[in-house]
Amino acid sequence: MKKITIAIDGHSSCGKSTMAKDLAREIGYIYIDSGAMYRAVTYYCLQHDLFTEDGVKLPELQAAMPDIRITFRLNAEGRPETYLNEECIEKEIRGMAVSSRVSLIATIGFVREAMVALQQQMGRDKGIVMDGRDIGTTVFPDAELKIFVTASAEVRAQRRYDELKAKGEDASYESILENVKERDRIDSGRAISPLRKADDAILLDNSAMTIPEQKAWLLEQYQLTLNR
Ligand code: C5P
Repeated sequence: MKKITIAIDGHSSCGKSTMAKDLAREIGYIYIDSGAMYRAVTYYCLQHDLFTEDGVKLPELQAAMPDIRITFRLNAEGRPETYLNEECIEKEIRGMAVSSRVSLIATIGFVREAMVALQQQMGRDKGIVMDGRDIGTTVFPDAELKIFVTASAEVRAQRRYDELKAKGEDASYESILENVKERDRIDSGRAISPLRKADDAILLDNSAMTIPEQKAWLLEQYQLTLNR
């Protein structure tokens, strides 16, 4: 069967990954969480003391880029997990220490260049669903199906809060809401590949949708694209 490239972009914590992952499983495609890659670089910086009070030690990070090897592996339940230099860092990259710094790391040109090159390599055979902020605009501008997902900041913060609580992690709704708004501001305002809807992307506001509804909607978009 014909294989296509599916790009799912949108704001922080709007359920992109859940939708993208479900679709990929359903149609037998590879799923790549591009945000996890920026999170892995952020985690590396934390581990190697590369943050200063007001920024990042850029020359040191640039020199370290060839030593940052990011891969994904399926766990026992078939879910992809992020690895940094052979170490599973899936849990570590979801906490607030990484979440509050990742958008800063994602503004750095040489970091973006390296991540985009890796993402394009992962998608060279198509049959891939990738989610992020610049997948439809920069990584795969020729993707056959592009979706841009959004929801209100309050709905997104509540979802993130519920997700962390369900995992038994400490979380405050207020600080999550602040983080969601701050990441929107940095992601949309940055000079390189800012978050924006590609002209040919389909807009989905999922504020009032359940996960099964989103899943059905996305599957329908995929089928419509295949039959086009
Ligand atoms: O998707 P997630 O929220 O995990 O992404 C973490 C951060 O990585 C985003 O807030 C954004 O700053 C950055 N990012 C990006 N480009 C992507 C994916 C993520 O700049 N394609």
